[in-house]
Amino acid sequence: MTLKNRITEKAFELGFEAVGFTHTAPLDLYIREIESRPDKMYGWVQTDSFNVKRGASFGVKHPWAKSLLVLIRNYHRKEFPRQLVGRIGRCYQVDERIEKGEETGKLTAFFDFLKKEGIQRKFDEEIPARMSAARAGVVTYGKNCFVFAKNAMRDASWLESIPILLDKEIAPDSPSIEFGCPEWCKNACMAACPTGALYAPGEMNPRLCIAYNSYYAGPMTPMKLREPMGTWIYGCDRCQEVCPRNQPWMNQALPENPKLSARSGDFELTKILLMDKDYYVSRIWPLTFYIAKDNILKWQTNAARALGNLGDRENVPFLIDALKSSPYPEVRGMSAWALGRLSGDRARSALEAGRRQEDDMVRKEIEMALETTP
Ligand code: SF4
Ligand code: SF4
Repeated sequence: MTLKNRITEKAFELGFEAVGFTHTAPLDLYIREIESRPDKMYGWVQTDSFNVKRGASFGVKHPWAKSLLVLIRNYHRKEFPRQLVGRIGRCYQVDERIEKGEETGKLTAFFDFLKKEGIQRKFDEEIPARMSAARAGVVTYGKNCFVFAKNAMRDASWLESIPILLDKEIAPDSPSIEFGCPEWCKNACMAACPTGALYAPGEMNPRLCIAYNSYYAGPMTPMKLREPMGTWIYGCDRCQEVCPRNQPWMNQALPENPKLSARSGDFELTKILLMDKDYYVSRIWPLTFYIAKDNILKWQTNAARALGNLGDRENVPFLIDALKSSPYPEVRGMSAWALGRLSGDRARSALEAGRRQEDDMVRKEIEMALETTP
């Protein structure tokens, strides 16, 4: 059996859905695409410490590498708890990188196998994973900018592409850098994108994407995005949920994920809004670590904004509590915005009382909220 066959067989044995190989020449198409965009769109991933263009030239960055292997991992083998759908993107709900769960164990076992085969390997986060997977022939693109499995997992996009550099020359597979969308789909993903981030087929402005705004951007979400972001507090799946290519996978009965179901209550919006640091660090951060451990206020502003958009006046007392007692002006300010959205007598009285707040930004948010509160 060839080395390529042995690696492929092991990957399937461990439960990966697909495995493909490509050479180490730069991902020119990716680099050209990044260079064609204005700096403000992708400048944040071209810094000294993290640079996707450097990652796209992985053969230059790692001259010892002779090929790139891409594993495809299905992260939607189980059902996701109803309470978390529409709040937290599915891929993040089962991200075990900090907690080192079963899926991480599979990757460790795969790395052990490579070592036993005498193969040097490296996983480098800068390498553009989706384009690598397409060049390795295991996925095709969707116009929503996600990639979809080819001949695996009912061709759905609920997957993670894991590029791994190898020091062995392995014959590359045929690339599939192309859209795989059916002609009859009239860009349902673009129509469904709540913020207009998907501005053309296959083109997305990350600065407008809910994912970016929910965990990378500052705590005070720009006014024009607060309502479109709806109840998402960490990531967004909208353009994948509506996609016809994902319906065969989503419309089947999948087993429950008991571990995730058991902890889903931790992510109740009101609990997040009023949580203390111990709660945040022990229950929220280990699963959803893109927001730093010391950035609890980003979570709390997200929760306040989502509560405003949820439209349930039962949540007004929690927002009043945050407006009165949060130590963070941003949380008080976003709670004021949410109270303005929910409106009603209790919300209005709390906002009027809040006019005595010392912080200028909070007072401004309160005045704006009062203008819109009947
Ligand atoms: S919604 Fe339609 S256009 Fe968008 S990715 Fe899916 S199939 Fe392609
Ligand atoms: S993840 Fe959400 S906000 Fe981002 S492009 Fe898709 S639908 Fe739009």
